Amino acid sequence: YRKELEELKDFEAITLDGHKVELVGNIGETNDIDGVIKNGGVGIGLFRTEFLYMNSDTMPGEEKQLAAYRSALEAFPNGPVIIRTLDIGGDKKLPYLSMDDEANPFLGLRAIRLCFKEVELFKIQLRAILRASVYGNAYIMFPMISSITEVRQAKAILSECMKELDEVNIPYDKKIKIGVMIEIPSAAIAADIIAKEVDFFSIGTNDLCQYTLAVDRMNQDVAYLYDPFNPAILRLVRLVTNVSNNQTNCFTGMCGEMAGDPMAAILLLGLGLDEFSMSAFSIPKIKKIIRSVRYEDAKAIAQTALNLETGEEVTNYILAEMKKLE
Ligand code: PEP
Ligand code: MG
Repeated sequence: YRKELEELKDFEAITLDGHKVELVGNIGETNDIDGVIKNGGVGIGLFRTEFLYMNSDTMPGEEKQLAAYRSALEAFPNGPVIIRTLDIGGDKKLPYLSMDDEANPFLGLRAIRLCFKEVELFKIQLRAILRASVYGNAYIMFPMISSITEVRQAKAILSECMKELDEVNIPYDKKIKIGVMIEIPSAAIAADIIAKEVDFFSIGTNDLCQYTLAVDRMNQDVAYLYDPFNPAILRLVRLVTNVSNNQTNCFTGMCGEMAGDPMAAILLLGLGLDEFSMSAFSIPKIKKIIRSVRYEDAKAIAQTALNLETGEEVTNYILAEMKKLE
């Protein structure tokens, strides 16, 4: 079976009836790039840049960040490299940045919210990404977006960075693609509004589940409620793909754990996901499943799943459908 998966490395992620999706990798540091290539990922769907910050005793400067982003971009001359701006706060802290204790850190000064407070820190990162963008196909992704207002605010700061680079004649990709994580329910519900400002969405099911179901993603006592197959989550995914599928200039990816779950692959395919981003080792398994189904069938399966009542019913139904494929 493993050999069979290895042989898939250079094949496309395409269904029996010719519908193509993109399988890409999640990375936390440049050491992870190799695994994505070896497993046949065509790019990076989520570069979690917070590790650059956390694995350092001091704030990583523009040059250090540029080098990291550049190596990811050069590793994938053809594929996308989606660089997510700093997602710190929640449970993640930085030793060199003082942050007040919060009663509800996951509802507090996290990710883009912290970047709006620490604008200089944010601008250093944006300049590093912009400068790196000449080495490949860089995409910028903003985390923890709850409304279009934040997208506009982030883009305004990005424009300032572009102007600063223009003034000193430093080149960058002027058409760099800009997207947002969909990990707060309000962003999924208002995806049609947010679409006006972005080139892509990437659904972060880890947080989307946490915030939609009001379940702390780390708390074992309530872990039984944490279910990405809950029909409420599937319906949010559908809201987002409905928006991007009906537009030619926008795509939807997923970079939460669900994207690498073999049980979810057919469902997500049928819900209209364009790009699946996951840990490198999951890529061959997901590719094998996608190559074994018809898109038309996956759509019908997803439609049925959307109308089931519980996550358990959904998973049982999918299991039964997958058995038929064997
Ligand atoms: C997510 O929330 O699904 C996600 C991919 O981001 P992280 O796990 O880094 O919060
Ligand atoms: Mg998240």
